[in-house]
Amino acid sequence: MAKLYFRYGAMNSGKSTALLQAAYNYEERGQRVVLAKPRVDTKGDDQIVSRLGVTRTADVAFAPGDDVLEVFCAERARVREATGSDIACLLVDEVQFLEPEQVDDLLRIAILEGVPVLAYGIRTDFRTTAFPGSRRLLEVAHSLEELKTICRCGRKAVFNARTVDGRFVFDGDQVAIDGHEVTYESLCGACYLAESGGRLS
Ligand SMILES: [Zn+2]
Repeated sequence: MAKLYFRYGAMNSGKSTALLQAAYNYEERGQRVVLAKPRVDTKGDDQIVSRLGVTRTADVAFAPGDDVLEVFCAERARVREATGSDIACLLVDEVQFLEPEQVDDLLRIAILEGVPVLAYGIRTDFRTTAFPGSRRLLEVAHSLEELKTICRCGRKAVFNARTVDGRFVFDGDQVAIDGHEVTYESLCGACYLAESGGRLS
């Protein structure tokens, strides 16, 4: 049976690189994959960008409210029509931005459509609270796998601290709004608590 895999990690843990590598592994064997990404803003950012320099355009984008199962089945039909071959795997980047109901559809794609789904994303936001999509994945995915990265102190990073204009901030919206220089640093629990003054969420 096909499965839903949630591969999660802090920022800069190489999730997009791992996704593109997985896509390459399928394609090397002559199999077709679909690359997907949530559409979180109106900028139409449909690029899957690896920090190692590889970039690919997503085949489909899931907008808020989209019926993910329907979008996938339409893409599957289109690929079959155009190439005569079926889809071997659905790969989703930035999966934390999907709605919980859309994550349920990822499970349906695996179980009912028989296509494995590899979903890559961040577990928690800068306040250490789970993204709704990630929470749902932690609940329903067949397989959970952590992609690891290192904190500045050398320990494993688990949190994503936000900086605005160069300073750590611990309040604000889950998804940062444009207008300021917003960056993220992956921190271990100890370094996060040191920066937040002991605060969590
Ligand atoms: Zn640390």
